[in-house]
Amino acid sequence: MIKQKKNGELIIISGTTCAGKGTVIDQLLKRNNNLALAISYTSRSMRAGEKNGVDYIFITHDEFEKKIENGDFLEYAKVRYGEYFGTPKEGVKKLLETGKDVILEIDVQGAQQIKEMFPQTILIFIMAPSMSEVKRRIKARGKETKEQILDRFQTAYREINEIPKYNYVVVNDNLEEAVSKVEAILLSEKCRVDRIEEIAVENQEEFIHEFLMDKDFENEPIKIEE
Ligand code: 5GP
Repeated sequence: MIKQKKNGELIIISGTTCAGKGTVIDQLLKRNNNLALAISYTSRSMRAGEKNGVDYIFITHDEFEKKIENGDFLEYAKVRYGEYFGTPKEGVKKLLETGKDVILEIDVQGAQQIKEMFPQTILIFIMAPSMSEVKRRIKARGKETKEQILDRFQTAYREINEIPKYNYVVVNDNLEEAVSKVEAILLSEKCRVDRIEEIAVENQEEFIHEFLMDKDFENEPIKIEE
């Protein structure tokens, strides 16, 4: 009766440092077959434990700038320490055409660019419960210098100021709850009238005629509720 649009939806998930957005996304992908994550390109160097083609597609600064010239990106931004991050146009287009809903895990600058191009995009911001909790999580990871951590905090405060540009904010205090909240957002968005291609019901004349001819209803008293 309800015909959904064939193409999938674009979903942006941004979040402050250590908000656990990667873990939320991993869970979403495990639990929902119709979701896909777009792999971004970056010019930053690969960290220990990362895989090319899985975490990012790692290319050089020059290669990235060539791709910009070729118009290969849906959006791109210099996110941290002058390093580029960008969403591949072709990859995302193909995923959307297969009907998959595509998650872009991108920063606030990229989110803004996509929202201007595609106003229907669903923008979700994931937050840690507090900055003290972020500090605790960063300390537990223990990989960075004080200067790098300070940079993360300053970026986080800047990004929090951008939350009003998003449609939804989810606090990741408890992973299970945060994942369920994102799923609930996506489910509601799918039911929005402007996301439905067609609402088809039986033809009115035929339906009423059939009803009038229906012997089962003959001499049925009309019950009026008191
Ligand atoms: P990192 O991977 O270095 O910890 O963090 C990268 C930052 O860049 C995150 O804030 C992430 O959301 C953002 N990012 C990753 N991929 C893209 C992308 O394709 N475009 C934009 N604009 N930001 C991205």
